[in-house]
Amino acid sequence: MTFEKLGLIRPLLNTLAAQGYETPTPIQVQTIPTILEGRDVIGLAQTGTGKTAAFALPLLQRLDEAKLRTQYRDVRVLILSPTRELAAQIDKAVKVYAKKLSLWSTCVVGGVPVRKQINALKSGVDILVATPGRLEDLVSQKAIRLNKIETIVLDEADQMLDIGFMPAIKRILKLLPKQRQTLLFSATMPKEIRALSNDYLKNPIEVSVVPTTATADRIDQSVVHMKHADKTSAIAKLVKAHPGKRIIVFTRTKRGADKVTRKLNAEGLGADAIHGNKSQGQRQRALEAFRKGTSPVLIATDIAARGIDVPGVELVVNYELPHVPESYVHRIGRTARAGASGLAVSFVPKTSLRTCAASKS
Ligand code: AMP
Repeated sequence: MTFEKLGLIRPLLNTLAAQGYETPTPIQVQTIPTILEGRDVIGLAQTGTGKTAAFALPLLQRLDEAKLRTQYRDVRVLILSPTRELAAQIDKAVKVYAKKLSLWSTCVVGGVPVRKQINALKSGVDILVATPGRLEDLVSQKAIRLNKIETIVLDEADQMLDIGFMPAIKRILKLLPKQRQTLLFSATMPKEIRALSNDYLKNPIEVSVVPTTATADRIDQSVVHMKHADKTSAIAKLVKAHPGKRIIVFTRTKRGADKVTRKLNAEGLGADAIHGNKSQGQRQRALEAFRKGTSPVLIATDIAARGIDVPGVELVVNYELPHVPESYVHRIGRTARAGASGLAVSFVPKTSLRTCAASKS
């Protein structure tokens, strides 16, 4: 399959060629023609599958072909994302894909001053990427109108549910025109998300690319049993064994993340933490330093790390195992991206092994 056969226009094809995208990924094959037709879509897919391009490319094409001028404070395509980092990442990707088109996109998230965002929205935008809280804030300040929206994308819908955004999403959906296109992407399909799609999507096409509990075969996964007290020195040892490589350590708590970060920095191992108690500026700086490799170890909690797409992550460490399998799949999926291979190591307490053995007998 080629991007050309999927019906994409020449400027987009040129951009994709310049980006080195040779063949469309499965989610792109399944959704691009459907979105071009204007139909609603439910996409069961995680980040890392090429999902952003799967919705952004056809939406850019539809906007370009409509040749409409966006009016004062209007938005034509709204993309909602659960976290600021994912929103920024989507916005960046949209800007890359839109390079050869005359379309305007911007991103509004919480944690940064609102004034600049209000100004950026004044003359209207073709594509707005937003987190739900800040979007509602801007709507209530009349900085933006949602009644001209042609398409809404709900990205990582299950994560929005987990964070508690479902009431906000429903309020936002009620402000949109009835005649619109709705695209919903989610790594899993809990019943609340299924209900949301039944209530707000019209005759959607449903596509699924990866079973949510499958991990990439290219990830070498292992567990190490140890006492809790030994974990910080074990992390330091692991990091030293992979000098200069990009490593993400997942901790369950923000305090845990700070503790590990302090330990690694005390040993001169260049670590930064990213979690909900950090300011947006701190989170962005940590991510940038990680991307550039100046601070090669990132200590993260699940929420903050959601959707992070940094190429070349060699190792993912689970300082504690997460509570649900989907989080495990998601965490270790930060490595082995775009065809590369990777390592995942999980620290498991010795006590839980005994408990497990006892409950079996
Ligand atoms: P996403 O699932 O949208 O986060 O995309 C994951 C990564 O795959 C991003 O770095 C994209 O730039 C890249 N990507 C998306 N589609 C393709 C493609 N068809 N060929 C090569 N890379 C791609």
